[in-house]
This record gives sequence, structure tokens and C-alpha cells, in this order.
Amino acid sequence: MTHDALTQLRDGLAALRGDDLERRRGLLESPQGVRIRLDGRDWLSFCSNDYLGLAAAPELIAAGHAALDACGVGGGASHLISGHHTAHHAFEVAFAGFVGKPAALLFSSGYMANLGVLTALLGRHGEVFADRLNHASLNDAAQLSGAQFTRYAHGDLAQLEAQLARSQSQQKMIVSDLVFSMDGDIAPVDALLDLAERYDTWLYLDDAHGFGVLNDGRGGLTDRAAKSERVIYLATLGKAAGVAGAAAAADNTVIEWLIQKSRPYIYTTAMPPMLAACLNASLHLIAEGAARRKTLHEHGLTLRSGLADLRWKLLPSDTPIQPLIVGDNGAAVALSQALRARGLLVPAIRTPTVPQGTARLRMTLSAAHTADDIDQLIGVLHEI
Ligand code: PMP
Repeated sequence: MTHDALTQLRDGLAALRGDDLERRRGLLESPQGVRIRLDGRDWLSFCSNDYLGLAAAPELIAAGHAALDACGVGGGASHLISGHHTAHHAFEVAFAGFVGKPAALLFSSGYMANLGVLTALLGRHGEVFADRLNHASLNDAAQLSGAQFTRYAHGDLAQLEAQLARSQSQQKMIVSDLVFSMDGDIAPVDALLDLAERYDTWLYLDDAHGFGVLNDGRGGLTDRAAKSERVIYLATLGKAAGVAGAAAAADNTVIEWLIQKSRPYIYTTAMPPMLAACLNASLHLIAEGAARRKTLHEHGLTLRSGLADLRWKLLPSDTPIQPLIVGDNGAAVALSQALRARGLLVPAIRTPTVPQGTARLRMTLSAAHTADDIDQLIGVLHEI
């Protein structure tokens, strides 16, 4: 390593600090949840994606203990060698049935699943049509696939249609977050499917934030999209499901192709089967989770009506993700710090995660919050 290269990195880090863009990792000393211990302090947290409060649910812990005894700890081998455990297989079958697709494939993370699906289905002659607010992992996946990368303004289906009409590419895929991770709004699934049918493209929907929450827990897939062979559905399993990993659900042929060709699936050690056993338990809790979803929904209504008259702009949202637009990076950080001073954890989201000038507080709600927790957040934001 040359002295110059290190100096460049030091200058780069100093520049991030100067622009209020330096990120740091707090040290979590408790299970994930709404009341956590982080950096030696107790907090009321509005920043996890544990929407149903399952990350430390006793049922999942019990399933994990039992599976540790039955399957051990490590995955030990990749799926195509000897690592594909009955626990993985059972989850894939149950998950596909639950979301209404013929088959599914379990990946170790959502990031890997996005890379794994896009790179297996697209190549240099392909073209990805992506909503501009898609998650970073989808953008990275599109770039890695080598396909042409065409972005449309958030939700602008007229622009998307014009791009599709112009395209000469041989393989086309419309790619969208189903619930937008930094804005909390929901993609118009059936309208996207209309375009996918009209222009004969794949439609890839990343439902990291809708699975477990929307539509009785089955996520944001409409019945029509579930039935369509051209729709590939992705749920991540470290959020509402409370565990880890991600599952792609699609037509049998697509899943078989992924097993043969998806490098992030093939060239990695299988997820520990113990986690797959926890996922099977989680799927049960999600299916039976109407009470949790009702609580979550009520928290959302309370929060939105309680914050409607603040001077910062509340984005419309029907999901547990509630952004409050502050604008300036520094102001968003200052607001987040003022909340921290009162024991509340709400992250400031800045560029490059969101567009310049739209820095925000991103509040995420959980069924594990109490009504008093929500009132406390509303009260403190008014006080500030
Ligand atoms: N897609 C979206 C929309 C996400 O929000 C995330 C996680 N932040 C991912 C994919 C990646 O999922 P994972 O955390 O399982 O890698």
C-alpha cells in the first residue's frame, strides 16, 4: 500500500466528515426490538425493520434452539454440493405457496438475491428499466448484469412506457421496489404488469418492506401478478420475518434456471439450516399475524395524524415506513440528535441514500411498539 493511496483515503474520510456524511456504527448489546441497548444506553427505537416484532419472538427462539440441536450450526457446503437441507427446502415450498407462486429459491440475503436474479436473467444484450428510487442493491445488480441500465423518474409510468417503446434490447426487465424503502410508498403493481405485458418484459418486484405486512402478510403482490409467469417476486426475510435471507418466488422454469445459473446462489455456503428452521416458524407467525398487523396499522394512523401539523413535510405512507422530510443533511442530523438526547432513536437518512435536498428522518414502526411509545415520539417531535 503506497503512502499516497492511504493519504487519499484519509482525505476522503475527512471530506465525508466535513459534509456531515460520515456514518458510524453503534454497538448493539441487546436483542433487536423497540427497547434496545446501544452504545451503553437504553433507547426507544424507531429504526429497525422488525415490523412485526418477530426478531426476538419466543417462538422463533424456541425454533432456533430446537434446530441447533437437530441440525448443528454451520451450513457447511453450498446448496449444490451437500448443503441443501430439508429445512431450506421446506421453507421454499411453504413460502411459494404462501405468496401464490409455483416455486421459490432461498438466498442468504436480499442483496445477494437481487444480484443473483438479475445477473442470471440478463446479460449484455439486456436492458433494465428501473425506478429512480429503487434500493441500492437493485441498482448494483443491474450494473453487474452488464445490461443497459435505464432509469425512470419515481413512479413515472409514462416515461417508463416511452423508454420501453424505444428499446431495441432482446431481454427486458422492469425492476421496482414494491414498497420504496426510504419513502414508504407502494409501487403500482398492476399498472407495471400492464406495461410488462404490452412490451413483453420481465417484471421484478422487490418486496423487502411489504412481505409480512401487506395483504394478510403475503406482501404487495396482487392476485394478477402472482399468477403471471413474467413476474418474479422477492421477499427479504431479515425484516418483518425477523430472521435473515431472502426468497425469490417465480415460475418453476425461472427457479430452475436460477439454480443452474445464479452465481450468488451457487458459489456460496448455504444459509445455516437453523435459520431456515426459524424461517419456517416465522412463516407460521406471519400467516397467523393479523393481530400484529392490526396494531402496526393503528400505530401508523396515530403517528400520521399526530404529526400532520409539524413544519417538516410528512410523506404519504400506508406502510410502517414513515419519512419526515427535513431537506438539509445537517438539519436532518441535528433533528435526529435532538431525539437521541431524549432517548429516542430515529435515523437521519442523507445523500447518497436519498436524493440531494431530501434528507429526512425515517421512522419505522413495529407491532412491538405500544400506543404510549407512539405518543412519546409525537410529543417529543412537537417539543423540538
Ligand atoms: N431490497 C430492499 C428494498 C431493501 O430495503 C433491502 C435492505 N435494506 C434489501 C433489498 C437487502 O436485503 P438484505 O438486508 O436481506 O440484504
